[in-house]
Amino acid sequence: MSKHFTIAIDGPAGAGKSTVAQAVARELGAVYLDTGAMYRAVGLYMQDHGISGTERIAGASGKPQIEVYFAGGAQHTLLDGVDVTDRIHSPEASLMASKVSAVPAVRERMVALQREIAHGHSAVLDGRDIGTCVLPDATLKVFLTASCEVRAERRHRQLAAAGKDEPYEKVLAEIVERDFNDAHRDASPMRQAEDAVRIDTSDMTEEQAVAAIVARAKAAIKA
Ligand code: C5P
Repeated sequence: MSKHFTIAIDGPAGAGKSTVAQAVARELGAVYLDTGAMYRAVGLYMQDHGISGTERIAGASGKPQIEVYFAGGAQHTLLDGVDVTDRIHSPEASLMASKVSAVPAVRERMVALQREIAHGHSAVLDGRDIGTCVLPDATLKVFLTASCEVRAERRHRQLAAAGKDEPYEKVLAEIVERDFNDAHRDASPMRQAEDAVRIDTSDMTEEQAVAAIVARAKAAIKA
């Protein structure tokens, strides 16, 4: 048995990955990394600097300095030394993240950074390509999903709780668009790894999803 374990949690937008992955990491005493936050920060950089189009984004992909740290039970993301944790969760930042994440040069840099952060720790990473690309030898791979409608309802509630009221139909349309982009891009499209366990959380509570993953993780770590 290796000393450290890694858990890959992939799936579409709004499946509850970050909340569930964070709770799993806490229960297992592992480091947690929200990789989507890193693509979101790169998206913000490109937006702030008026950079668009695949070639220009690829050309600038080495410029944004992305750092993450964990405090107060949450991941904080720094872009060029500035905390952008709040800004990266706007619906515009979601779409920008989806756009820049389709650019191979951006992915190469982010994947290298993610492996560096996970290296030498027991870690839980969530994203779209963790099981298929970032951590192909992960101790446990989970593909967490839920119906589009349930995911849109959850995102709608989250936004409302943060004081950002968006019509449900708009949130649903954005989720459908982002799923399509993420699953149909050429570079590391979102897909379930062959050896991943699929968990549909449409009819599950967060606690049930966490318990299901922790039980599988403990079994996989022992094996
Ligand atoms: O997980 P989250 O919704 O924050 O991710 C934002 C966007 O970043 C996703 O829609 C996807 O385009 C991209 N992403 C990715 N690979 C990852 C994590 C996120 O392409 N590992």
